[in-house]
Amino acid sequence: MPSLPKLPTLAAAPDPATVCPPCGKCCRYVAVGIDGPVTVSGVSTALWLVYHRNVSVYQSHDGDWFVLFPADCENLLPSGLCGVYENRPTLCRDYDVDGCEGTSAEAPEKVRFDDGAALGAWLRSRRPALFARCLAKGILPPAVRGDAPAQPSGAASRGNPASGRRAPVRPRG
Ligand code: SF4
Ligand code: SF4
Repeated sequence: MPSLPKLPTLAAAPDPATVCPPCGKCCRYVAVGIDGPVTVSGVSTALWLVYHRNVSVYQSHDGDWFVLFPADCENLLPSGLCGVYENRPTLCRDYDVDGCEGTSAEAPEKVRFDDGAALGAWLRSRRPALFARCLAKGILPPAVRGDAPAQPSGAASRGNPASGRRAPVRPRG
């Protein structure tokens, strides 16, 4: 009796629970690219952003700048898994678990400012010429000017360039 032809087997959809430790850290914020505090205008905009509570500005390990808003995705399940895994956005598909913020020991940002004082301290110590131009422009209030140099959170981190946050990167140019 002739044997039946073998039917092709379909690749099984991966179990989301096995893709990564479902800590959910990458599903609890929105980050959007900005020009960053590299000009007087950029400093002014970055200051305006971080003056708002729970809004931060950070630089990725690749050198790009972002504004960061804490916000849980509506599809994040209490288990830490994605409720729309099979149909999740491209941004989520492209995010690599290797070096992600849930698995890397490095800070997800190269440098981060959670308030005006942190941004002012970074400018003063790391970009003194720009700090002076901002001072002359009159956009640095006393709390931002500061008297003692301080390190912003994450300033000492120099981590794996592959690590970082899930965020769209704007083309340079
Ligand atoms: S769609 Fe899913 S993977 Fe993407 S942020 Fe929301 S919960 Fe996370
Ligand atoms: S941060 Fe990393 S380990 Fe945590 S859910 Fe996202 S991809 Fe998975």
